[in-house]
Amino acid sequence: MHRRNLLKHLWAGTALGGSSLLLNQSLTASSSEGKMTSPPRGLPRLKITDVRTIMTAPNGIRLVVVKVLTSEPGLYGLGCATFTQRAGVVQAAVDQYLKPFLVGRDPDEIEDIWQSSYVSSYWRNGPVLFNAMSGIDMALWDIKGKRANMPLHQLLGGKCRFAADLYYHASGRDFQEVEDNVRKAMEAGYRHVRAQVAVPGLATYGTRRTGQSAMSSDAGPADSGPTSPVDVWEPGAYVRIVPRLFEHLRSRLGEEVELLHDVHERISPAQAVQLCRDLERFHLYFVEDPLPPEENDHFPHLRRQTSVPIAMGELFNTQQEYVPLIANRLIDFIRIHLSQIGGLSPARKVAALGEYFGVKTAWHGPGDVSPVGHAAGLALELSTYNFGIHEGYVFPRETREVFPGCPEVRNGYLYANEAPGLGIDVDEKLAAKFPYPSGEPFDFDWGRTRRRDGTVIRP
Ligand code: MG
Repeated sequence: MHRRNLLKHLWAGTALGGSSLLLNQSLTASSSEGKMTSPPRGLPRLKITDVRTIMTAPNGIRLVVVKVLTSEPGLYGLGCATFTQRAGVVQAAVDQYLKPFLVGRDPDEIEDIWQSSYVSSYWRNGPVLFNAMSGIDMALWDIKGKRANMPLHQLLGGKCRFAADLYYHASGRDFQEVEDNVRKAMEAGYRHVRAQVAVPGLATYGTRRTGQSAMSSDAGPADSGPTSPVDVWEPGAYVRIVPRLFEHLRSRLGEEVELLHDVHERISPAQAVQLCRDLERFHLYFVEDPLPPEENDHFPHLRRQTSVPIAMGELFNTQQEYVPLIANRLIDFIRIHLSQIGGLSPARKVAALGEYFGVKTAWHGPGDVSPVGHAAGLALELSTYNFGIHEGYVFPRETREVFPGCPEVRNGYLYANEAPGLGIDVDEKLAAKFPYPSGEPFDFDWGRTRRRDGTVIRP
């Protein structure tokens, strides 16, 4: 074949899914045999044709899901972009900025799309951009899996385990109610249970409040603003009651059940050290977020003072926050929220980094991670050696109906289905029947919880 005609032919082949590999092989075949014999290899090139946000709240939780459509009819991917507290801003970031940036791009180029999106607004990091990018990123992995006709856990290396162990949330107004709820979880098959108890009269994280917290405020009824807190919380009462809760649970439940606790970042470094030391004898699976991200530099001190396994990081966004804690072996479990750091692509790197430093994954996974996000986390957990635990969320019926293929909870494990990609879909007509709750765009409770003197609490 004349060289010019050969190249013309090869470029056509490239358009059908060829590559530089094909070019080299074909040239070899051509030069040795005088004609091209190798058939085109690889998959046909695709283009991203549309990017859409799906806003739905099937059980009252505002979810943001991104749908990436391609030039192959019927081939699309789904990703979780749920920043439930600021969902409308993520929608704008996807629809007004990432969509025009990415339409026309090749959906196979997942890493380059992530890297170029990361710098596309010049100022980078932050929950809005990262959640928007996560929606795209997970959707591209979903597309990749569908193109390979493999469930994503296969594409990521294959299963290391048959399912992901879950932990259940048990709380109560008093020790007995917490114990009863832990027992219910154990009877349902859970081997790991997180336990939280209300602090009488205070608005405590993870529990329904008991009594009127406003009664704890020292402000007069005529005061307003920070001098008149409505939701009052005090660290002293909290750090005194939590060890007593676990003393109660261990004395009643024995040592077999794995117990967890979430501090939720509200206490001082000195209180965190004391609380962790007080909890050591109850052999917890982990103590979560004993410090806020602003106190990251206190972790070396905490690590030297206690043997309690430490989980950290659901508020983290950037590598500057989580890499030092992992690389310096200061934590045992990394808790980051997949969509909050930009999706599956960065999470794969975090998981791989953790393997070499003895840090296991325990991705943040409450109800404000959509079932699409849970499926993405599960794919990584099934194929990651240093998986620790999956935060359990019992998907309500309406949510499972909106998201066919939702991962299944059985006997305290989360199971993936074996469908290609993330194995999950969204029924858009049904999703539209569950609009966001009316009224305030969010309940804003995080910014309303204060000390008795009115100082706002960093949750
Ligand atoms: Mg937490």
